[in-house]
Amino acid sequence: MSGTFDVVVVGAGYIGCAVACHAAMAGLRTLLIERGEIGAGASRANYGNVQVQDAELAHSLPLTVAGLARFPDLEAQLGAAVGYRRLGSLLLIETEAQWQTMAARLARLHAAGIPAELVPAAHIPEIEPLLDPRTVLGACYHAAEGQVAPFALLWAYLRRGRAYGLTVRTHTDVLEVGVAQGRVIGVRTEQGTIHAGAVVLTTGAWTNLLAAKLGRTWPIQHVRGQALVTEATSLRLNNHIASAAFFEDIENVAGGAVLAISQTAHGHFLLGEAAYPDPALTSQATADGARAIAAVATHFFPGLRSLRVLRTWAAPVASTPDGLPCLGPVADVSGLFIATAFKSTVIVTPIVGELMVDLILGRSPAIDVTPFLPDRRSADAHHP
Ligand SMILES: Cc1cc2nc3c(=O)[nH]c(=O)nc-3n(C[C@H](O)[C@H](O)[C@H](O)COP(=O)(O)OP(=O)(O)OC[C@H]3O[C@@H](n4cnc5c(N)ncnc54)[C@H](O)[C@@H]3O)c2cc1C
Repeated sequence: MSGTFDVVVVGAGYIGCAVACHAAMAGLRTLLIERGEIGAGASRANYGNVQVQDAELAHSLPLTVAGLARFPDLEAQLGAAVGYRRLGSLLLIETEAQWQTMAARLARLHAAGIPAELVPAAHIPEIEPLLDPRTVLGACYHAAEGQVAPFALLWAYLRRGRAYGLTVRTHTDVLEVGVAQGRVIGVRTEQGTIHAGAVVLTTGAWTNLLAAKLGRTWPIQHVRGQALVTEATSLRLNNHIASAAFFEDIENVAGGAVLAISQTAHGHFLLGEAAYPDPALTSQATADGARAIAAVATHFFPGLRSLRVLRTWAAPVASTPDGLPCLGPVADVSGLFIATAFKSTVIVTPIVGELMVDLILGRSPAIDVTPFLPDRRSADAHHP
């Protein structure tokens, strides 16, 4: 494989598919390269939740708000169904410390126009009848979130992009990014060299493997996140639900699993999440992980005990120590960009596609990406 493109996007997860689509729609000759199948990384593992509940508050709310605002029109824009539906979410609170953490977030969320309220346990059955209210002190309720069908969204971006000339190559490993005299010149793949004036790394947890070839590292870490899916049932969950323990160190949580429960539009429960450190970047799901997930889920939702589990899976998920994504141009390498390690990826997918095209074309992006620059100093970091 060889050729010349304006833009090469590496990695076909949510972010890569959106960036590639928007670049093609902007008239750029664009190639999207993926080493596996479409969505082979973390994007095949997720629930599709369009969530504000865990937004980083200091710098990321403009991204969150702009992303959320794009979902109601996304199907029309992409010309395809993506399974979008509005849902609420609950972050379950089990300790006084978690109540205080959630309470401290409300003012900033409200200032950004995001509805959020603390609900005591006694009122939770009105919002979520399946939850055993004796297991919690209360919850932080976000009334306006949503959910998409993950693969429907990925493929909607690809089909739209292809209509504008996007080229997609799967099963092609990018071995390194080519740089000459401080400028990106393309990528070397296991099947040949591609020339391009801009390269965008949307490579998730694998990004620092390519960085190492450039003698760089970016503040990207990862865990292997595991979940499982049950058979479809007539029981109905009204919201997607996670634990406020996600705001604490996961090591503090007995058994290593923290509640993250959603339901597909077809009635399957999606139960998670166990998270493990995994330097080898494998996707191995474990029986211990599945047991820990089932124990946590049925503690809060005893009515799910009789449901049969269909399968379990795991994937490496990228994050950063300061909770901010890596989004923007790489310092000292003109034409090289990164977009990865978002705290909640689905909600920002549409806006990141737009912003990246502005950055590639040298236009001022609609949202200031300075806090998210991949080469930011750690002194700029903060904890949400
Ligand atoms: C159980 C679970 C549930 C989740 N639920 C949600 C949810 O409801 N909502 C939400 O917002 N987030 C959720 N997440 C997190 C979400 O899945 C990830 O944040 C998101 O998928 C990341 O997307 P991405 O495009 O940045 O990266 P990825 O999907 O990881 O894509 C990176 C791609 O790059 C490819 N790649 C890497 N290196 C190379 C190379 N050298 N050459 C070619 N290709 C390469 C990989 O194969 C991969 O396909 C969940 C995660 C888990 C584990």
